[in-house]
Amino acid sequence: MQLYYTDVFVLPLPTGHRFPMEKYSRLRASLLACGEFTEADFHLPHAASDEELARAHDPAYIQQVCCGQLPEKAQKAIGFPWSEGMVERSRRSAGATICACRLAIRLGVSANLAGGTHHAFRDRGEGFCVFNDAAVAARAMQAEGHAKRVLIVDCDVHQGNGTASILAGDESIFTFSIHGARNFPFEKEQSDLDIELPDGCADDAYLDHLDAGLSTAFALAQPDLVIYLAGADPYHDDRLGRLSLSFAGLAERDRRVFSHCQALDVPVAIAMAGGYARQIDDTVRIHATTIRLARQNWG
Ligand SMILES: [Zn+2]
Repeated sequence: MQLYYTDVFVLPLPTGHRFPMEKYSRLRASLLACGEFTEADFHLPHAASDEELARAHDPAYIQQVCCGQLPEKAQKAIGFPWSEGMVERSRRSAGATICACRLAIRLGVSANLAGGTHHAFRDRGEGFCVFNDAAVAARAMQAEGHAKRVLIVDCDVHQGNGTASILAGDESIFTFSIHGARNFPFEKEQSDLDIELPDGCADDAYLDHLDAGLSTAFALAQPDLVIYLAGADPYHDDRLGRLSLSFAGLAERDRRVFSHCQALDVPVAIAMAGGYARQIDDTVRIHATTIRLARQNWG
């Protein structure tokens, strides 16, 4: 299994910033340490071009982001201070999901060890999301002739509002989000399928809802590619989560997504999305488990 990483493209943050940036380098280190991957399995992605980004974003927004000309309020909504590093990191992260999709289509599975920035809208960002890598990558695969129909399965605990908004009315890309009802974003968009869960929802109820959602989503989407946002934040000890999944429940979540893909022989590109556990090692463990399970499933 081949993986794309972007943690070497540092997004400079002030000390004490609440975004757990170091989870990405720790994830790569953890995957190397587990013995199931070698250095040769980790690849740097290209930086997504303006043309690639513009399939999902307003050219004026791309221009403003890249030149550091976003209004202060818009930059604040993203939650990162502007820097050249922020732009490069955001382009590379979108590039990594494009690369992972291309490789998944060839080999069955691949992953971006970051990405899943699903709160990015066509003309604005929020919640630590600048560009919407899943929407950009889905459209890239269509433009390159690699896929006609794409299903985005978003299991981050927060609704994929940007993805839903960008892809509203696009019948070739199906958006499925399973998330906390009372969590950010407080004004939700309409995905093609939304499943809203109550605070405290634990493994069994979550997995029942997920199974039902996956069956519906695959039947309606008829995808030839899945992009899976494997957020670590439904975890019970996540600071921003509000749900109560265990390590075992999250691993079972991954297995169920993968088994739906494999049953229908649909390739899957994985992106990490959120994870804000009180102990950063817990977030890393959840993300690493997703990648290791994918490798075991596809060999
Ligand atoms: Zn999240």
